[in-house]
Amino acid sequence: MNYHRKSFVRGVIYGALAAIFSVGFFAAWLDFRVEVKPATAASAESPSEWSTTKPYPVHDVYYPGTEELEPDEMRVIACGTGMPQPRLKQAAACFLVELGNGDKFIFDMGEGSFERITALGIPLDQLNKAFLGHLHLDHAGDFPAFYFTGPVNNRLTPVRVWGPSGVKPEWGTKAWIENMRKMWAWEAATRGSAVDPRGLKLEVNEFDWTAVNNVIYDENGVIVRTIPAIHGDQTVSFILEWKGLKFAFSSDTLPNKWWLEHTKDVDLSVHECFIPPEFMVSKYGMAPSEAVFVGTQGHTAAQAFGKIMSLTKPRRAVCYHFQNDFDTAPVVENAIRKTYDGPLDLAMDFMVWNVTKEKIRTRMAVPNHENFPAPPQRAKQPPDSMKAYKWTEFSLGGVERESAAVTNALIEEFNKKYGTNIKPALTGLPFLKKP
Ligand SMILES: [Zn+2]
Ligand SMILES: [Zn+2]
Repeated sequence: MNYHRKSFVRGVIYGALAAIFSVGFFAAWLDFRVEVKPATAASAESPSEWSTTKPYPVHDVYYPGTEELEPDEMRVIACGTGMPQPRLKQAAACFLVELGNGDKFIFDMGEGSFERITALGIPLDQLNKAFLGHLHLDHAGDFPAFYFTGPVNNRLTPVRVWGPSGVKPEWGTKAWIENMRKMWAWEAATRGSAVDPRGLKLEVNEFDWTAVNNVIYDENGVIVRTIPAIHGDQTVSFILEWKGLKFAFSSDTLPNKWWLEHTKDVDLSVHECFIPPEFMVSKYGMAPSEAVFVGTQGHTAAQAFGKIMSLTKPRRAVCYHFQNDFDTAPVVENAIRKTYDGPLDLAMDFMVWNVTKEKIRTRMAVPNHENFPAPPQRAKQPPDSMKAYKWTEFSLGGVERESAAVTNALIEEFNKKYGTNIKPALTGLPFLKKP
């Protein structure tokens, strides 16, 4: 074979390999990572020029509060995807589900997640249903803040909470709530005295954590079921079903037979997944035995996450509960890809999924970092705070007179401006009583 024939044959072989590789790669890329959607009908066929003055026609992010949900659409927003130690980038576990019928559901409420929820600007009256998969701090730690400070932030609607029964009664959700009230008794007495008490009403729903495919909520066409989880007993996973759409949320668990049986046909399957034990050693400073235990026995290893997703084949798999960084993400994804080749998102805080029968769209939300609470949705009925809470003479006698006079003058100005007749309570009292 002369040189030219050799190079020709080599060229054909290389060309064929390159074609096979690029077709395979392109198909994989289309399948897993990107939904290609033209900006406009025209742009799919021909280049289009954007105006230099009008808004850009494409916004591939979600600006909270700017998109109407379709009657058959589900929107899921990650408000916490990280670890028990929350960080600026990732709060602990929390997923918000919004439905086209107007219902909203919070699944888990780990530390830091209340901040993420409020950044979405949703009135708290609309966020009155919280489902806690288990009572670890990274899944329930922000519930007291959400509950007690809700009325301060204009919530006038009672909160409804669902959580598991206990192996011992004192470990269950009812006892947890009773103890929460006891722990925050002073908070309730002082701050509670100044807010509309309707927002402090609390409905506790404790369910049997061992029940399988157990309906714990059935209202307005929405069904929420629980299946047991494997994470230190009295832990569950949730499956929400509405209009033929299904959302599954593991909370914390090892892959288990109940998840395998009951999440096979879900649209969005959100399951925990850990970084490999090597990272628990190098980044957490854990001992190897500790890292292996936490990363494979207490939680789901990435390969195991991939395996359970391969077995259940959801329309889209979402892994959460790990530090999703530039150096961890490729390692986690590679580990998952050893056992799963379906659609996948590595969750980050403020990741958003729009789910319909036709498609699932993944984007990032752009939250407002300077958000104020939404105004009250109904007229408030605040109590007389000085009557609702009795101050001690000790504190009343400590108010400084000249500062109080300045404050009282401010209130007089306010009364003139707003046509009100508000009397200074605390800053007026000592001088009324002890001239
Ligand atoms: Zn846990
Ligand atoms: Zn956890």
